[in-house]
Amino acid sequence: MSEENTRSSNFITQIIDEDLQSGKYKEIVTRFPPEPNGYLHIGHAKSICLNFGIARDYKGLCNLRFDDTNPSKEDTEYVESIKNDVRWLGFEWNGEPRYSSNYFDKLYGYAIELIQKGLAYVDELTPEEMREYRGTLTEPGKNSKYRDRSIEENLQLFEKMKNGEIEEGKACLRAKIDMASPFMCMRDPVIYRIKFATHHQTGDKWCIYPMYDFTHCISDAIEGITHSICTLEFQDNRRLYDWVLDHISIENHPHQYEFSRLNLEYAITSKRKLNLLVSEHYVDGWDDPRMPTISGMRRKGYTPAAIREFCRRIGVTKQDNTIEMSALETCVREDLNENAPRRMVVLDPLKVVIDNYPEDKVEMCEAQNHPQKPEMGTRLVPFTRELYIEREDFREEGNKKYKRLVIGKEVRLRYGYIIKAESCEKDEAGNITCVHCSYVPGSIGCDVPEHKPKGVIHWVSAKEGCSANAEVRLFSCLFNVPNPGAAEDFLSTINKESLKVVENAVIELELQKSDKQETYQFERTGYFCVDSKLSTKDKKIFNLTVALKEDNSKSAS
Ligand code: ATP
Ligand code: MG
Repeated sequence: MSEENTRSSNFITQIIDEDLQSGKYKEIVTRFPPEPNGYLHIGHAKSICLNFGIARDYKGLCNLRFDDTNPSKEDTEYVESIKNDVRWLGFEWNGEPRYSSNYFDKLYGYAIELIQKGLAYVDELTPEEMREYRGTLTEPGKNSKYRDRSIEENLQLFEKMKNGEIEEGKACLRAKIDMASPFMCMRDPVIYRIKFATHHQTGDKWCIYPMYDFTHCISDAIEGITHSICTLEFQDNRRLYDWVLDHISIENHPHQYEFSRLNLEYAITSKRKLNLLVSEHYVDGWDDPRMPTISGMRRKGYTPAAIREFCRRIGVTKQDNTIEMSALETCVREDLNENAPRRMVVLDPLKVVIDNYPEDKVEMCEAQNHPQKPEMGTRLVPFTRELYIEREDFREEGNKKYKRLVIGKEVRLRYGYIIKAESCEKDEAGNITCVHCSYVPGSIGCDVPEHKPKGVIHWVSAKEGCSANAEVRLFSCLFNVPNPGAAEDFLSTINKESLKVVENAVIELELQKSDKQETYQFERTGYFCVDSKLSTKDKKIFNLTVALKEDNSKSAS
């Protein structure tokens, strides 16, 4: 994948090109501004690739700024996970991470400035009254009876708010704009509220906290951001963004641009809802491999390059859209097909006994780690009299289409001998328990005259010390419907069978040794990655990253 050399082009980069050409800016500065109230998800990856990608392509800067104005929902656990995820995706921010809370003193000063200019007032309507006075989309709002307080009184009351002398919910600071504006966000928006909460960065220094719309534009201006990029739901709020910056004494005035959010089929991209899945234990944490979070995708074996490529392919527009999960999976598959080492693993073992092969003999077969990439080297896999193959790779009677092991027919064991099935054993219920075979001497890894098996199957030695057992976790979509976010109760659309545990898969010893969180191709099955959280020294646990081929059934089974 050559994405690092491919500059993305979209309506935002066109604007940037014009701004550079006209001399409006010499250097481009963007920012990624997450609120640390949850883990990042695939939607954030789009915004990260856009903002950091622009900085990379234009040799500019991208700040990481935690938008931390709501202490009751935020936590340093989220701050750390966000830093970790941005770096894992392959990006580095300019300087130290920043926090909106770094600017609380300045923001307070700008609030005072607005009061002094007669452009902000302390309101004491109850929250219910405020809602009632706000009006609707078709009806204008009403002015609060506190709207025309004197500047002096406003300053005194705001001071009291700051000093903790007014109860939570009893007063707030509002910008004095226009209660009849067709844009609801311009109807005297609240810019400061009282909250007696300990903040993860500022502790108990403040009991009033600035609102997002007031904070965001000023933080952008303080940091010298040139292009402030956000999602479309903030389109109306751009008016407020500009109003605030137009009415305070600050030099910079960044421009806000909006693009459409990423929605992914069969997934949720709302932190609030993802939080619910975690807190109600529908999943095993934010990094559950079924979660569309960056940490979940990492644990599932997705690679940063695949996610970046996905973000590049979906592009940046203003059109609302929902992307099929297969678009993301295709990127993962393409990357892993190129780069994942191959291994043999039997998920549903059926024993094979090669009756004409010596009991104690162990022959090492040379297996390629990547058939198209000799530079990835080879490994040795032991061939023994008893082996395991996939149950579905044997039939007593075959047909033309079935090119695997059938009684009386030959098949090639990948990197090993050609074998022929002679007979099979069954238990009382009629289940096949063992297949007896014979092997063709001299056929190890090479063709022999008069033996032309049609199929090749994978296998693992069944001899003690020549293989190991492992658990393999197969995942399907977490939801039964393509758009769970639109369901009245999204929890009712959860797919109860999204996790299937295969307890006794048989793996090559080579895999038992691996403790890196690497993703492998299990030949003929799919891509799998060691679960770094659940694996132990004695038992490895693998997560299905993505199947070899797209599942066209579209269902969540
Ligand atoms: P959520 O709805 O999941 O809580 P949010 O927008 O509140 O998301 P923030 O932490 O504020 O989450 O997001 C940080 C940045 O990521 C913002 O600029 C936001 O616009 C962007 N972002 C969030 N979700 C998506 C998405 N689905 N697609 C693209 N960008 C997104
Ligand atoms: Mg937000």
